Amino acid sequence: MKKETQIISTGRDKKWTKGVINPPVFRASTMVFDTMDEMRFAIKNRANGEMFYGRRGGPTHFAFQAAIAELEGGVGTALYPSGSAAISGALLSFLKAGDHLLMVDSAYEPTRDLCNKLLAGFGIETTYYDPMIGAGISELIRPNTKVLFLESPGSITMEVQDVPTLSEIAHRHNIVVMLDNTWASPINSRPFDMGVDISIQAATKYIVGHSDVMMGTATSNEAHWDQLRENSYLMGQCTSPDDVYLANRGLRTLGIRMQQHEQNALKVANWLLTRPEVDHIRHPAFDTCPGHQFFKRDFSGSNGLFSFVLKEGDLNSVTALVENMHHFKMGFSWGGFESLILAVFGIDKLRTATKWDSSKPLIRLHIGLENPDDLIADLEAGFERFNAALNKR
Ligand SMILES: *Cc1c(COP(=O)(O)O)cnc(C)c1O
Repeated sequence: MKKETQIISTGRDKKWTKGVINPPVFRASTMVFDTMDEMRFAIKNRANGEMFYGRRGGPTHFAFQAAIAELEGGVGTALYPSGSAAISGALLSFLKAGDHLLMVDSAYEPTRDLCNKLLAGFGIETTYYDPMIGAGISELIRPNTKVLFLESPGSITMEVQDVPTLSEIAHRHNIVVMLDNTWASPINSRPFDMGVDISIQAATKYIVGHSDVMMGTATSNEAHWDQLRENSYLMGQCTSPDDVYLANRGLRTLGIRMQQHEQNALKVANWLLTRPEVDHIRHPAFDTCPGHQFFKRDFSGSNGLFSFVLKEGDLNSVTALVENMHHFKMGFSWGGFESLILAVFGIDKLRTATKWDSSKPLIRLHIGLENPDDLIADLEAGFERFNAALNKR
């Protein structure tokens, strides 16, 4: 079955929905039981879809968890109040004082901050590695290395990792492999077929898809599911059924949205290639993106998020480009229906295992569901402002 088809039927077990098409909002904290036997049954089966107490979720959650687990290809999915909480929740579930973590150098900035601040304070040491390291990862493994964390493609700079090679080497050393799979969403890659143990989604992005809910998911294979799930409960992680309802609703159109984001972004990126101001495109589907060969091998599609690097530019000229756009708005996050533009400075300070040349400005775009011709016209006017500001220097 193709993913677009699977998205429509997944998580719609009548057990959760009573036959309603989209799983309804089921609000609860306390559940009451009539007999000791009923209560014992709920306790015994609380990890397998029996209602027990609101923090462990109800039918709205169970339906969404089943859907994400199926689409990602794992056995179970833990829900968190944000993507960042899913990352910290997964890492804290498998690391303790004295352990060593291998973290990709191109990780999402708050993930780096988590390692440098909270995890360091807990006595967990992080080594950053080059996203293109491949088999060279062996040299960084220590006897106390417990987790290898990947994000592919990386944040902002978009390097695509060789996930199967990295996973294979990690498993030889009993290291848990975690992947921030947000860019692929649950439909454009098969993390568990590539050896990943835990796949994380910032559902805030494409799953929700409408820029109105924060949510994270961590999906696990059989071997790590009990530990991930129970630790998420120990940390008191839960999500509101209203938010999960919106995530479930957003999920149903993920396939068609992703196709349109992809087409629109490819059109804009190909137009950017013709611009004399552009040094290169950082989009996994283009061969100027490090790891493009792994994108071709491991992904079934792309989406609306990519970056491009300008040949030159300073704060003034880049500001002239990104301000006063009609359709592109400046803002963090991505994955909604709207286009976003972000001038990213100081990337060199967010990389320690690799070097980034910050003299060339980088612009990140999220291409939304507008007509791409309007977006191109918007960028064209932006480049005019950019050139005028450069010439004034
Ligand atoms: C946005 C994002 C996150 C964090 O998600 P939040 O829901 O904003 O906390 C994690 N990883 C990646 C790759 C992201 O883009």
